Amino acid sequence: MSERDNHPPVEAHQGRHFLQIPGPTNVPDRVLRAIDRPTIDHRGPDFAALARRVLDNLRPVFGTEAPVVIYPASGTGAWEAALVNTLSPGDRILMIRTGWFATLWKEMAERLGLAPLVFDTDWRRGADPALIGEALTADRDHEIKAVCVVHNETSTGCRSDIQAIREAMDRAQHPALLLVDTISSLGSMEYRHDEWGVDVTIAGSQKGLMLPPGLSFNAISRKALAAAEHARLARSYWDWRPMLAANERGFFPYTPATNLLYGLDAALSMLHEIGLDAVFARHARHAEATRHAVRAWGLEIQCAEPRHYSASLTAVRLPEGESADRLRALILARFNMSLGNGLGPLADRVFRIGHLGHFGDLDLIGTLAGVEMGLAGAGIPFRAGGVQAALDFLALPA
Ligand SMILES: *Cc1c(COP(=O)(O)O)cnc(C)c1O
Repeated sequence: MSERDNHPPVEAHQGRHFLQIPGPTNVPDRVLRAIDRPTIDHRGPDFAALARRVLDNLRPVFGTEAPVVIYPASGTGAWEAALVNTLSPGDRILMIRTGWFATLWKEMAERLGLAPLVFDTDWRRGADPALIGEALTADRDHEIKAVCVVHNETSTGCRSDIQAIREAMDRAQHPALLLVDTISSLGSMEYRHDEWGVDVTIAGSQKGLMLPPGLSFNAISRKALAAAEHARLARSYWDWRPMLAANERGFFPYTPATNLLYGLDAALSMLHEIGLDAVFARHARHAEATRHAVRAWGLEIQCAEPRHYSASLTAVRLPEGESADRLRALILARFNMSLGNGLGPLADRVFRIGHLGHFGDLDLIGTLAGVEMGLAGAGIPFRAGGVQAALDFLALPA
């Protein structure tokens, strides 16, 4: 039987596909329409006006007045940019392995010739600021050059408290840089690059920013810029300096992803029109409604620490012996909805519900209804009533 035969024909599906993975997320029509325009001369005056506007409107989303650079690359490229612009071969860096994405970042650091000191969690909570503080206090010779943390670990649905980590670093009076991956939190959850003293913030286009994949970002503190003057890892494409120099004039050192920048322009307008606080509140409310459903089903939330619950996704554990991948395949085939898979050691153990980006109350109810019908269809032991629990929660005034 071919792969094709496993799925009903596309025309059997009525209505739109529910893309409820935690990124890429559903792209609003307004953003799609914005992208659907002729590509212009990226060295001409119209482009410079677009680029300046986008670069200005990006900064408040990061909570910064510092420069933000845009790469035509997925988020992984912006990880690399953060490391190669600030560090030198053999540098010791502290990386907190909170899940699969933190693991991938650590592997990248090793391939680049860095020497990560790795702190593991049980993948059911965020990073522990106290442990980071202790490690830095013990590092009297200041051998640790950077602390790398994933703000929202997309493989587990656990958030790390970046402000508390900054405070721990300050208490240790340690000069390490703070590099933070916000790829699945920026534009969905509160984030303050300047106030939290982050040195490099890494982000991507395809999650809270509601764009297709293809753009990624570094917000760069003054201290990180100064570090870039001495960093000796090889860099060329990712080098901040030619990028920042060209951005000053509204241009890029190489061909930018012009049409994605049209989309970014529209997405930033939407975020600013709605207001970031309202966006964050909506996601927090959807996350809470989702957890009401999961608890009513009698299933377990992967994040075991309520303070660390993610607002952009929820990872749900299945009872021992049940296959999350089989459940996801059934939901895709029967209800035309994609859910996130378990990653690394969580493969087949959890499924992940994305509730970030362009998403409203009824989208959430449709999503949870698909999960509840899928649980029944797959014969997984659960209690009915999760959707009802979410309805009851959402019916309360926001
Ligand atoms: C999606 C994601 C990445 C990877 O980004 P790509 O765009 O796939 O390169 C890295 N970190 C986190 C936290 C993510 O959610």
